Amino acid sequence: MIQNQIIGTGMLLLTLGLGVYFVVQRFQTENEMGDVAVNPETEVLKKQDPGTQPTILNGNKETQSKSTTPPKKEKKKEMPAEFNKLTAFEASVILDKGTERADTGEYNSTVEPGVYVCRQCNAKLYRSNDKFEAHCGWPSFDDEISGAVKRKVDADGYRVEILCKNCDGHLGHVFEGERKTEKNIRHCVNSVSLKFFPEGKEPPAMIVKPN
Ligand SMILES: [Zn+2]
Repeated sequence: MIQNQIIGTGMLLLTLGLGVYFVVQRFQTENEMGDVAVNPETEVLKKQDPGTQPTILNGNKETQSKSTTPPKKEKKKEMPAEFNKLTAFEASVILDKGTERADTGEYNSTVEPGVYVCRQCNAKLYRSNDKFEAHCGWPSFDDEISGAVKRKVDADGYRVEILCKNCDGHLGHVFEGERKTEKNIRHCVNSVSLKFFPEGKEPPAMIVKPN
């Protein structure tokens, strides 16, 4: 009986011992697998190690710091168009919206065929065919060259000012409903705002208003 007990106890201890052994073995295996799983991360970390990055040579750094902006291209300056020079009297009418005295204008009684251009910018404004004698003291036209003249309510609030559309030079005033011609319109224009070119004499090119 005692021998059987000893053998039984020995078997029990052996079984326990084997059990402990296997448990320990398994624990170690798990740890090893864990190590394997962590390894790729450490590999990545190694790759990101700044110490492994190629160092920039001093020469390259100097080249980068000394790189200058490309030379600016020589841009040709376009000179703004200049209008015809005006005398003090011309400027007082064309720029300051003055009015020459009645019956004193250069073209008051001009009847020759030709074209009237803006004294400041040479834009063609009126044709002699549209000029008529209004007995008002200033050159009068009952039509304009299409698109050359613009209208604006005068500073006095009731008359309508006429200006060169290209250069904004003051021309005079326009009146409608006077029944002086069939077109029933009168452009009352200062001679000093105009320059007459008789038929056959081509006026100089219009000086386009600078932007
Ligand atoms: Zn003009």
